[in-house]
Amino acid sequence: MSEILVLVEQVEGEVKKVTLELLTLARTLGTPAAVWAGPGITAEAKARLAEYGAEKIYVAGSGDLVDHVVAPKAELLAQLVTSASAAAVLVAATAEGKEIAGRLAIKTDSGVITDAVGLGEGFVADQSIFGGGVNVHSRVRKGTPIVAVRPNSTAPVAAAGAGVEEEVSVTLTDAAKATRVVERVKQEKGARPELTEAAIVVSGGRGVGSAENFSVIEGLADALGAAVGASRAATDAGWYPHQFQVGQTGKTVSPQLYIAAGISGAIQHRAGMQTAKTIVAINKDPEAPIFELADYGVVGDLHQVVPQLTEEVNKRK
Ligand code: FAD
Repeated sequence: MSEILVLVEQVEGEVKKVTLELLTLARTLGTPAAVWAGPGITAEAKARLAEYGAEKIYVAGSGDLVDHVVAPKAELLAQLVTSASAAAVLVAATAEGKEIAGRLAIKTDSGVITDAVGLGEGFVADQSIFGGGVNVHSRVRKGTPIVAVRPNSTAPVAAAGAGVEEEVSVTLTDAAKATRVVERVKQEKGARPELTEAAIVVSGGRGVGSAENFSVIEGLADALGAAVGASRAATDAGWYPHQFQVGQTGKTVSPQLYIAAGISGAIQHRAGMQTAKTIVAINKDPEAPIFELADYGVVGDLHQVVPQLTEEVNKRK
């Protein structure tokens, strides 16, 4: 079977969960081949990739791949698409992943699908378009299918692959080296999972009422081992940092469980969370549009409901 290239996302040598999801998807469609771009691959990382089905691990260890912004990774993948006669390329639908996908599509004269939430036979993707308002089935009809898949779209399932390592040297054009990374600022790693990768997200909106009251949302998130999200009304009010905004102009999340507390369910908010597997809404207004979308709804004051829920979750731990 032809190889399906999976671009590895990693932080300080640790393979991110989304890569394991992509390998799981790739396994159902062909032979998964992981592509590691940059120096620093560890024995643990290789073992992890093989554990989730990578039959081959292409290791391109050149520092150029991480010292310049995005373009070198697209060039690396373009080179591999030709040399490995790849059947498809999967990347994570992150900001960087989508940019790489677009550049790769141009380089290989191929079609690209972004924000896929599923991928099946013939590389038919379930795709969320128009700010998440419409779901369509899409298929690339030209070149090598390039698909950017949203984190948390598939549950990662381990199934050992051979993990045969192959070193790759990449020849970069001057254009790919045009934009250089000058500094990396390490973000403090909090105790909570990263918002776009979290299996559970608890979000608060204007109904939370103040920055201090966000401790109620954080309390439930911590009880569930979840990430905290916020609506734009809450971030614009300065109650929670902008980097946690979910929606059209914020982050897109696809967790297994999304709890929206004091959020009305505006279309721009839905755009960032409606592919969550299960949605729970807590709102004091029974007519709030979020209830149209929710699998479970609680009509009530979040300041009463959320602490009770937190207490109940903590009791059961
Ligand atoms: P509201 O709409 O004011 O809703 C608050 C809800 O809380 C109400 O339903 C109310 O009944 C409920 N409530 C109040 N008190 C309580 C209580 N004590 N207990 C329980 N429930 C309570 N929004 C985003 O979220 N993300 C985006 O990325 C985004 N991008 C945008 C881009 C554009 C171009 C535009 C125009 C808008 C965008 N918005 C975005 C804004 C969006 O249109 C809404 O204004 C916003 O989502 C509303 O946030 P909210 O639901 O928290 O507030």
